[in-house]
Formats: sequence, C-alpha cells, structure tokens
Amino acid sequence: MKHRLILPCLLLAVALATAGLSGCGAASRTPAPEFSSGAAAAPSPDAAETASPAPVTGEAAWPVPETGIDFAPIQDFAPAGVVRAISDSQPGDGSDTGYYAIDRLQDGSARITFVDYATKQQIVLCSQPNCTHTSDACPAWYSYDNALRVYPLGDQLVVLQGGSFLPQDWLGDRAVPRVDILNADGSGRHTAFTFPSGCWVSTMPHYHMARDDENLYFVIQQTTEAGDRQAILCAAHAASGQVFALCGLPEDETHLIGGTDGTLVLEYTPGINESMDAAPADTQVVRLDLATRQRIPLTSYPFGSALTACDSEMFYLLSAGKVCSINLVDGSTAVEMPLTLPEGCSSIQRMYGVFDGRLVAATWTDGAMNTPGGLRFFAIDPTTGARTDLPYTTGE
Ligand SMILES: [Zn+2]
Repeated sequence: MKHRLILPCLLLAVALATAGLSGCGAASRTPAPEFSSGAAAAPSPDAAETASPAPVTGEAAWPVPETGIDFAPIQDFAPAGVVRAISDSQPGDGSDTGYYAIDRLQDGSARITFVDYATKQQIVLCSQPNCTHTSDACPAWYSYDNALRVYPLGDQLVVLQGGSFLPQDWLGDRAVPRVDILNADGSGRHTAFTFPSGCWVSTMPHYHMARDDENLYFVIQQTTEAGDRQAILCAAHAASGQVFALCGLPEDETHLIGGTDGTLVLEYTPGINESMDAAPADTQVVRLDLATRQRIPLTSYPFGSALTACDSEMFYLLSAGKVCSINLVDGSTAVEMPLTLPEGCSSIQRMYGVFDGRLVAATWTDGAMNTPGGLRFFAIDPTTGARTDLPYTTGE
C-alpha cells in the first residue's frame, strides 16, 4: 500500500526535476548494449535461490582524510536495518503516514511540507496558529534553500542543508552544510551539526544519498588548502543528531546505489576525472560493511554502458539490450534477460530504482532528448525482462 502511494509522488517529482536536465544519464552518453559483470557463476534463473551467504570479508575501506571536522566518535555509530538509495533530485521522502518535501518559494526561501496519505492534502509542517510561514518565527521556514532536503528517520526528521563553496560571503551560515533535527510534527527543530566553510554535500547524479532506519548517508566534499578535493562518506543519526565520518571515498564519481541490511552498495569509475581523452576504466561496484567499514568488490561493468540500481538482494544493470541481476551477497549473475524498449525509443534515459520488485526507468520518446513527447516511464520485471509501460509521461 505504501509503495503504491509513494510511487506516483516519486515519479512526478523526479520526472519534473529530470525534465530540466540535459542528459546527465550514463545511457545518454554512451548507449551500448553489452556489459560484462565480474560474476563468477554462470547465468542461471535459479542461482538466487541456491546461493548461500558468503562471509563478509574484504579490505579496509578508504581512510577518512584529515579534515579537522569534529565528527562524533566512530565507535558510537551503528547501522540500522536495510540501506536504500534515495532518488536523485528528490528533496524529500515518505514515512508510513505521509510524504515530506521542501517547497521552494520565489524569493529563494523554502518551507518543509507534508502530504498526508490519508487526506491527500499538502500542508506546511507548522502547527502555529495564524502563522504565515514566511519568517524565522515559523519552524518550517528556511530563509534560503541551499539544497535543502528533508527525510523522516524513525520518529525524527533530518533536514540536510547542502551548502556551497561559492557564496559564503553573502550567505553566511546558510552557505555551509548543516544537519537539523525535528520531530515528525515539525516541532523541536534544532541544528545538530554544522560543517565548516569550504564543504558541500555531493549532488552527484544517480544517487548521492542513502538511508537506513535511523541514519542518513551522504557525501561531504571539501577542498583542501593545497587545492585537493576530498570526499567523505558521512552518516547522520537522527535520534542523537550525531554525524559520523565512515570512510574516505575515491574522487571518481562515487554513487550510493543502495544496500542490504548493514551494507551500503556504491560504485565509482577510476580515472574518470583525469583525462577527457582517455577512456575511463570500468565502473567498480563494491559493498561497504557499515559496521566494520570493510569493502567487498561485487562486480564491474564498462563505464557508460548501463544504468544501475539495487534493492536489498540484487544489484541490477540495465542497458538498451539487457537487464542483468547480480546477487548482492556473492556477486554471481542470477538472471540476464533481453530487454525490449518501447517502439521508437533507442536508449534508456534514467533508472529510478526498484519499486515492488520492478525496475522503474524512463526513455525519451523517439529516443531523443527534449522531444515534444518528453519522457515515457516503464517498469521492468528483472526476472523475465518483461516491460510494462506506465501511464506517466512528461513533456514540454
Ligand atoms: Zn509557520
């Protein structure tokens, strides 16, 4: 029930955000039907059922760089439940009762809003009588939407301010990344953690946030005095307001794809930023054990050849020609199926994730960007490759 209600919100919100982009998707860069996984086992439809969990072993994750940021002691951190990625351009998320989002106003200010699933009404998350929700007196109001996002985690809401390394002179405290904690009804708002200037939250396309039952995972970028960029995987714990540095990350377009119970799946492409002339290396997919910070290689695929997502059991590669399911525990290929795109469409523009066991993706009508037909959405059964066209389109 929850998914049926959330999906239209997600699709509409994400599709609207996507409509303004100009093809940042991997498939739009290099549509290529072939990919190879690092899977050891032969493709077999029933491999998923027969695979037994392998012990989690790997090598230590990338060390946290020296930053001087006052993170909470790592021994206080604990993952909580299944990790899932949060869709791009999605400054909100659903709880069991409703959907929280950020409503940006024309003057650049913003408010936290809530859509109650039961009433289907959107309200500003403020219970003050006669409040105009346009000043600091309102607990739902922010003076400047510097990439604000709101996520319900347990009984709290985490509001993450993205920050920016550019406009600090005139934005002051609003320019730096910040973690605010609120109660689910919008009361009790307070700032739990503030990053120093020169930091910003990564907004890498194709998944830059993830969550479990209690923690929000995000990537902080920082430029050192020497001009080097550092990336740190952070976790904000909603109940305590503590923010942890889990590990460093390679400066190679790292995406937080999703995860399992206690592990985060991420992918990165070594060397992608080094030269425009040389072809990047294969995109690497690894599992990160959040409790031990061990990283375990899962698979790899040629850069730009596929879109990816995962749920708590499978990692999925989706290209114009195939859908491939890879076991998240042992990296074996469970299913590899041919995929037929809608008539007239030549490549997949975006994949939005796994909903009720199906992959939700979109393609530009007629296979070209910004055509009058806009984006068409469809769902793919990853066990059969069967495509179901969804009754959603976005256009000019
Ligand atoms: Zn108000």
